[in-house]
Amino acid sequence: MEQPILVQKYGGSSVADPRRLQQVAQRVVEARQQGYRVVVVVSAMGDTTDQLMQMAHEITDHPPRRELDMLLSAGERISMALLSMAIHKLGHEAISFTGSQSGILTNDRHFDARIIEVRPVRIQDELERNKIVIVAGFQGMSYKREITTLGRGGSDTTAVALAAALKAEACEICSDVDGVYSADPRIIPKAEHIAEISYDAMEALARAGAKVLHADAITWAQKHGVALYARATSSKFGQPSGTLVRCDRDLEDISLLRPAIACQDKLLWMTIEAQTHHHPTIAAWWTNHKLTSVNSQWHTHHVEALFRHNDRELVAQALDHQPPGITIQRHPESVALISLVGEGIDRDPQWLQHGIDLLTQASLPVYFTQTDTFRASFLLPSQCQEQAQKLLYQGIRSHTYNTVLQAPRSARSQKSKAKSQKSLEEKKNK
Ligand code: ADP
Ligand code: ASP
Ligand code: MG
Repeated sequence: MEQPILVQKYGGSSVADPRRLQQVAQRVVEARQQGYRVVVVVSAMGDTTDQLMQMAHEITDHPPRRELDMLLSAGERISMALLSMAIHKLGHEAISFTGSQSGILTNDRHFDARIIEVRPVRIQDELERNKIVIVAGFQGMSYKREITTLGRGGSDTTAVALAAALKAEACEICSDVDGVYSADPRIIPKAEHIAEISYDAMEALARAGAKVLHADAITWAQKHGVALYARATSSKFGQPSGTLVRCDRDLEDISLLRPAIACQDKLLWMTIEAQTHHHPTIAAWWTNHKLTSVNSQWHTHHVEALFRHNDRELVAQALDHQPPGITIQRHPESVALISLVGEGIDRDPQWLQHGIDLLTQASLPVYFTQTDTFRASFLLPSQCQEQAQKLLYQGIRSHTYNTVLQAPRSARSQKSKAKSQKSLEEKKNK
């Protein structure tokens, strides 16, 4: 019988230096020895991507996005070749491939491309030859045969897209944290570990800024039914650990019963004074300048829009070519959108109310708030984001609400069934 395929992804901190690369090589070899055909996706070493970005900006304020892709994709190439060497040294055969060699085809949006299709022919050939295949994360090739990158944190998406295309048994995303927590454990050390989480809840958490898993990776995983694990690189291979992200049916342990907290930091904020009939002009202006907002609110007299710091050049270029007759205010300070995340949060206004109370009582400026199915969000200056997350976590998580935020119905009914079964048994035993 064919051995199952496992895709593992190791992030920047896990491959930050040769010693850590050797530890990763050891963990990869353990997976191979336990009977898996292994494909490993790697990120650039440590802060390499940031350093390359900085060098580009020392040369020019407006680096062309095509050239940024050529530059940044080199970071992952370094890790892939070194990891392959480390695996050879352990006596196993390995081969490294770039994104384009791995058949990762993307659209042509440089610096923030989307994967359109994966044709992993060369990977399949090498797996058949019993090799461990190492793939450079975060990159692909557009249909114009140009090298593209997938947006910051995009190696997770490479791993999941490959796992789907190869019909892998599972995909492990390994980093410096042992899974998903109810808040960033670096900021809230008491955050609760989440053992299992649905795709929907995880995607909402990731889109709200929990960078432990990239949001696009979750979308792929859900679409193709990939079983996704977030684990610590330091965990022993094969031992149950971390967080399992999977379909939400029949899950007992959905831990978003109280909202989690996530933060999108370093955002650029624009207020556009425009009437409703100007909205198509604004949308066309964004499209022409390849701008995608992280978040936008379209009102009768104005539009509020948030953009990623990474898109600052595009924003600056767009502002140099403003549509006539529309006044645009670019707020100078960097802002953070902090969200309480839990399914159905918009159905109960007390989450928003309590959140605003907590922040304003501490004299933190809240510029605006908004809700959607999974989020109640607050916009604040970036410099307040840590304090705000701590206040919200303490206040919200210690508060008892009328509404229990939603675990999926099937899980809830199973939970309540299990509870009533338990109390029946307790009664019987009395
Ligand atoms: P990698 O470089 O391996 O891809 P990342 O830095 O992208 O790793 O993601 C891991 C980091 O995500 C952790 O160090 C942690 O600080 C942060 N993080 C943010 N929110 C969460 C959360 N809810 N659960 C776990 N980690 C989180
Ligand atoms: N190296 C890229 C980054 O730092 C991609 C990744 O790590 O996933 O964003
Ligand atoms: Mg990451």
